[in-house]
Amino acid sequence: MPETRLLAPDAPGLTEACALLRAGGLVSMPTETVYGLAGDATNDRAVAGIFEAKGRPRFNPLIAHFADRSRVEDFAVLTPLARRLADAFWPGPMTLVLPLKGGLSPLVTAGLETVAVRLPAHPVARALLAEFGGPLAAPSANPSGRISPVTAAHVLDGLSGRIDAVIDGGACAVGLESTILDATGEVPVLLRAGGLSVEAVEALGLTVAAHDGSKITAPGQLASHYAPRGRVRLDVTAPEPGEVWVGFGPCPGAALTLSEAGDTTEAAARLFHALHEADALAGPGGRIAFAPVPETGLGRAVKDRLRRAAAPR
Ligand code: AMP
Ligand code: MG
Repeated sequence: MPETRLLAPDAPGLTEACALLRAGGLVSMPTETVYGLAGDATNDRAVAGIFEAKGRPRFNPLIAHFADRSRVEDFAVLTPLARRLADAFWPGPMTLVLPLKGGLSPLVTAGLETVAVRLPAHPVARALLAEFGGPLAAPSANPSGRISPVTAAHVLDGLSGRIDAVIDGGACAVGLESTILDATGEVPVLLRAGGLSVEAVEALGLTVAAHDGSKITAPGQLASHYAPRGRVRLDVTAPEPGEVWVGFGPCPGAALTLSEAGDTTEAAARLFHALHEADALAGPGGRIAFAPVPETGLGRAVKDRLRRAAAPR
């Protein structure tokens, strides 16, 4: 693999990215959630390359990204529930698990009869998907198990020399992975908390069911994930000497903050920046402490990621 190229998010950059993707290459693209590592979702070799570059276990399926809804229906069934959710939240930070029709590399779905689908809202991702024309499989552009990237520099830190290019679209606005809902049945089932709040889904008059844990296991659902090199403690109001303290709300003396104002949406947008920065400050074997974050709105997803970052490895 040659050196990873940094592409501008303009017309020549997107044309170059498309040429690489058509040749089965791997390109990291900015989305509103986190940077994705994109490859042609219909090309086995490209999809295998994604798993290889990330060191991701093969049993963990990928999200297929589309430019528009009509293309989704070439590959998956939009159930009545999915239509309702898509009307409200696509394009945006919501992934729907849908019955698979076919046409994708079986590596994308890990051989399942369902497929996870998303229409991202980021203008650069949308432009790339429109120009490419087909679905792009794209997990987060980080080595498996590590902190998700929310800038092009984070992508290069983790995957430089292992992928063909990264399109620099600046920092990700939501800053946290998509909310994954199983929409194969009549009730949405929450598979992963993320950038769309459960409250927003329930405001449609739907009840969101909890995942019973009996379905597939995937790194995003594993106890240890999003791990910095240092040890992480949660719900810390009085940090120990030597700990890098990351605040939420008023936390005098904190090295960093998720949101000085105590806003969970801002905390989501800051979370992976703060984890990368705290990791750099603490160093290998260092210690990081997070102030309490309430589990309302996007705070639920923030807490989910922090628990995995803190889990024993
Ligand atoms: P990532 O690409 O790392 O953001 O993670 C994608 C996640 O989507 C995986 O970890 C799975 O939890 C979930 N996923 C993908 N495809 C399916 C599927 N067919 N059924 C259930 N969950 C899925
Ligand atoms: Mg990931």
